[in-house]
Amino acid sequence: LMFGKARTCNIVTVPEHEPLECNIVILGAMGSGKSALTVKFLTKRFISEYDPNLEDTYTSEEVVDQQPVLVKVMDTADQDGPVNCERYLSWANAFIIVYSIDNRNSFEACQQYLETVTLYSKGLQPEAPVILLGNKVDMERYRQVSKADGAALALRFGCLFFEVSACLDFLSVQHIFHEAIREVRRE
Ligand code: GDP
Ligand code: MG
Repeated sequence: LMFGKARTCNIVTVPEHEPLECNIVILGAMGSGKSALTVKFLTKRFISEYDPNLEDTYTSEEVVDQQPVLVKVMDTADQDGPVNCERYLSWANAFIIVYSIDNRNSFEACQQYLETVTLYSKGLQPEAPVILLGNKVDMERYRQVSKADGAALALRFGCLFFEVSACLDFLSVQHIFHEAIREVRRE
């Protein structure tokens, strides 16, 4: 590219850095709050009713630690666990696997996703970071999954673990996505 020019005048124009792209896929049982979390991150708003069968990918220009990044979030809507997972396994740079702390079944469902994703990711160079995320901490009174259980499952699969609520503060939700981006940068 423009070798001749660079040679004759000894000035090489360095193109501006393309912003890093980061593809994040959100997985988990229906009703765990994947869409609510995605929409909260993208709009700062909690949308309580969201089409449960809608799967879509959204793009957002973010600045994380003073560095721009083009974030793409795939909000999945699997009905029966990690089937047809090829579409996101090869696409994703990071995985967020969500359950609802007030629903034990949604927690059990995470195990399948963790197995599928970590099995795939371990073979990658670099590995894609995985976050296990317990949602709906505002439902503390109805808690069915202890924080210790969440932490233990994460430890077993060597992934990060957080608890959050899509209907409480925006910054805690944003923090999860930004941590995923930081992990991708570290790789
Ligand atoms: P998805 O199927 O995983 O995409 O789940 P949705 O985002 O559609 O959420 C399922 C239901 O849980 C909806 O009724 C939401 O309003 C509700 N919900 C989502 N996140 C939270 C949360 O953090 N707290 C509470 N109390 N409800 C939530
Ligand atoms: Mg949804």
